[in-house]
Amino acid sequence: MAEVILSGLTKSYGATQALKDVSMTIPGGAFVVLLGPTGAGKTTTLRLIAGLDKPDTGDIRIGGQSVLQETPAQRDVAMVFQQYSLYPHLTVRDNLAFPLRSPMIAMPETQIMQRVKDVAEVLRIPHKLDNKATALSGGEMQRVSIGRALVRNPRIYLMDEPLSSLDAKLRADLRIELKRIHADMGATFLYVTHDQIEAMTMATHVGVLDHGRLVQFGTPRQIYEEPVTTYVASRLGQPHINLLPADAFPGAPAKAAQIGLRPEHIHVGPTDAEGGQPATITRVEHLGDQTRLHLSLGPHSLITLTEPHTALKPGQTLHIRPHNPLWFDASGTRI
Ligand code: ADP
Repeated sequence: MAEVILSGLTKSYGATQALKDVSMTIPGGAFVVLLGPTGAGKTTTLRLIAGLDKPDTGDIRIGGQSVLQETPAQRDVAMVFQQYSLYPHLTVRDNLAFPLRSPMIAMPETQIMQRVKDVAEVLRIPHKLDNKATALSGGEMQRVSIGRALVRNPRIYLMDEPLSSLDAKLRADLRIELKRIHADMGATFLYVTHDQIEAMTMATHVGVLDHGRLVQFGTPRQIYEEPVTTYVASRLGQPHINLLPADAFPGAPAKAAQIGLRPEHIHVGPTDAEGGQPATITRVEHLGDQTRLHLSLGPHSLITLTEPHTALKPGQTLHIRPHNPLWFDASGTRI
């Protein structure tokens, strides 16, 4: 369980600045999720820590020591990619044992077999150990890929969208398993995803990257409840936060240019008795576990949630008012 400290990391590829002065402390035992759209610099961050690329400036310390001069193997980190990289002609057992048979590790074979067995159990694939890798389903292959990282017990796990190629059911199962593995092993994870459910359910900390800059680092709750900008606010929340001009409702503070309303920030009433603005229902979307209400408020559209078996219908008018909204200035910074 090692602490990882990134200080002032900068990395360019030709004219593209992939990372701009990124500093972050990943506490030992943390599960840090990096969020940001394609091109934000997430994979570059992992590659620099793994030693697959060198930063232009800045330092990376693992367990208190700079690792910049170390090879990837010396850094003792494990990386899991979106695309599984197994040896197809080897059995699951030999795929899992492979990293431990490295001369650098020099582990006795009986101990290797014990670790392979333990990890296979954690990943619920002990009955597949004798199968060839090619005889596995996509989900099983990805479990073996994750298993190849787990057998090593490295100082930090770096995972780049490891679940994104899997179907929804398996993704949900593995999400729970990864969280359990993290809790059981007390390991340090740095995990890249586009999937905000993964971020909210697994992370102890979330780092939000925007064009190579780390714009906020905090607990999932801080990122959700106290986003520093509209960009950060838009990373988490399903439905998405509603961003409207500040004057869509009365009472905007000075300098406010936009109001940010999460679904729970919209108080819906049948009449204007409580000072609500009239809004028309444009769509009622039943999703099983939630029902979304699409509203139009003058020229603006909003989405909020209502009870699953609502009798509300498109065309009806409701009255809405903000409840603990977020306010942002013209630059998108929260006030
Ligand atoms: P993310 O993982 O958030 O999608 P990346 O870290 O992969 O983002 O990329 C950040 C930026 O750096 C992007 O603009 C990408 O095109 C660029 N980049 C990354 N790796 C290379 C490379 N090897 N050569 C050129 N440009 C690269």
